[in-house]
Amino acid sequence: MPGAMLGAIEAGGTKFVLAVGPLPDRILARHTIPTRDPATTLAEAAAWFDAEGGVSALGIGSFGPVELDRASPKWGFITTTPKPGWADTDVAGHLARALGGVPVGFDTDVNAAAIAEHAASRRDGGGSLAYLTIGTGIGGGLVLDGRPVHGIAHPEIGHIYPRRHPEDTDFAGICPHHGDCLEGLASGPAIIARWGASLSKLAAGHQGHAIIADYIAQACHTLFASVAVEEVVIGGGVAQTPGLVEAVAERARSLDAGYLPGGERHAVIRPRLGTNSGIVGAMMLARAAAGA
Ligand code: ZN
Repeated sequence: MPGAMLGAIEAGGTKFVLAVGPLPDRILARHTIPTRDPATTLAEAAAWFDAEGGVSALGIGSFGPVELDRASPKWGFITTTPKPGWADTDVAGHLARALGGVPVGFDTDVNAAAIAEHAASRRDGGGSLAYLTIGTGIGGGLVLDGRPVHGIAHPEIGHIYPRRHPEDTDFAGICPHHGDCLEGLASGPAIIARWGASLSKLAAGHQGHAIIADYIAQACHTLFASVAVEEVVIGGGVAQTPGLVEAVAERARSLDAGYLPGGERHAVIRPRLGTNSGIVGAMMLARAAAGA
């Protein structure tokens, strides 16, 4: 049923984070549910919003791939995901109907995080921004000149190919599509496959720290050089490894070697919103949908 609050969902492959509040940065209640099959998960999400009094609009930042083209009959769908049961799922349409026909905003989970971090950055005078999550997978969202980037689908920054680190030539990478793309080399599961432990569990002097920092720094340099972002914000579980973001920032500066125009303004930073970037971004999608 429709209500007065904005509603938001950060839809991940292992959990859905739900939230309601009057404004994107004023979350009054939140709730986490495990990601089961679509029918069960979406019904459970809708039931929670109803129990909170309903929402006036809903924003969804979703795992993907997703369809973001408003002209497509599949807009708001999770499309070709390998996650069992979730391919070709009408997430936005199902929830809009379940919540009484409320307007729905829909984007990738990382674009939602980028939108929220961009809003926080602008308060500090920042401009264009990329958000990278380094965790179970690697994903990237982009806000350029104030707008989230979709292109013909949405960016898949985790699947660019980095140059191989000279001390990391034996590992084939674990991406089922590309082998040694960024996600295949630097995601949490790739680190465990290579060295038998998560990055934060490896000894301080272990070569893994420099190798992973190098790969992520190459992605940052690619973003600085290709789409001229001012900031790359790095979140996700692997990014919580102490010292990693600082090592990435230093390596990215060294990779650029002082060439790129505006380089003195380049920053590689942790999320200003901590672990709330995704859910706050989904709230902002709800607010935008309510005003559309
Ligand atoms: Zn890949």
